[in-house]
Amino acid sequence: MWNKLTNHVFYTNNDPETDRPCIGYVQGEKAGLLMDAGNSLAHAELLKKGLAEKGLPEPNYIALTHAHWDHTYGLCGWKGVSFAGKKTNAILGKMQAWQWDDASMKKRIENGEDSEFCFIHIRKEYPDRSLISVKPADISLQGELEIDLGGVMVVLKEVTSPHAADCVVFSVPEDGLLFLGDSYCSVPVGDDWVYDKDLLGKYIDWLEGEDFVVAIKGHHPPQTKAELLAELKADYAAL
Ligand SMILES: [Zn+2]
Repeated sequence: MWNKLTNHVFYTNNDPETDRPCIGYVQGEKAGLLMDAGNSLAHAELLKKGLAEKGLPEPNYIALTHAHWDHTYGLCGWKGVSFAGKKTNAILGKMQAWQWDDASMKKRIENGEDSEFCFIHIRKEYPDRSLISVKPADISLQGELEIDLGGVMVVLKEVTSPHAADCVVFSVPEDGLLFLGDSYCSVPVGDDWVYDKDLLGKYIDWLEGEDFVVAIKGHHPPQTKAELLAELKADYAAL
């Protein structure tokens, strides 16, 4: 399940069935860092099994790209020290009090706190919703944070994104790699996925200034910088 993409970075494909996103793993000489935590304990266990099969140790660090359930609810399954943006951790703190019966979930869709898209996939991922366990990360960051894994650095950066207000991306400069989470995505509105034009424009401008060769996307296959920018500019032009 873990594909090697660059010298230090592995990733898994996304699984649309229960909306499991692509997960990344950076292997340094001293430590390993997991990029996003998975959407459940079951997902985390599957990721661990895959790491063991590849001979990779469990990560010392886990970093979260944003608070959405599919990227964070697996955090309870990992032992390492976890990092998230301050905004992400504030949202996760609120989500800890959420109830998971149908009525509570539907109420959150009505008041805009959650989406029908999440509701459908959470029900599929968790046949028993009493197993949902939400946990904020151990350490909150603002701006940028560099983590030295031994021979390779990972830079965690807060960014302005059309997808959510709490997005953080992970850059691995030695490998020319950028892990985007969902920061490149639009948002679900009813049955459509919609971009905010102003935010997408800002995001494209920021991406153009970033030095990277290949990007790992939360719910799509990796792309080169040129492919990613061409796709986003076409989306922008169509708005
Ligand atoms: Zn998301």
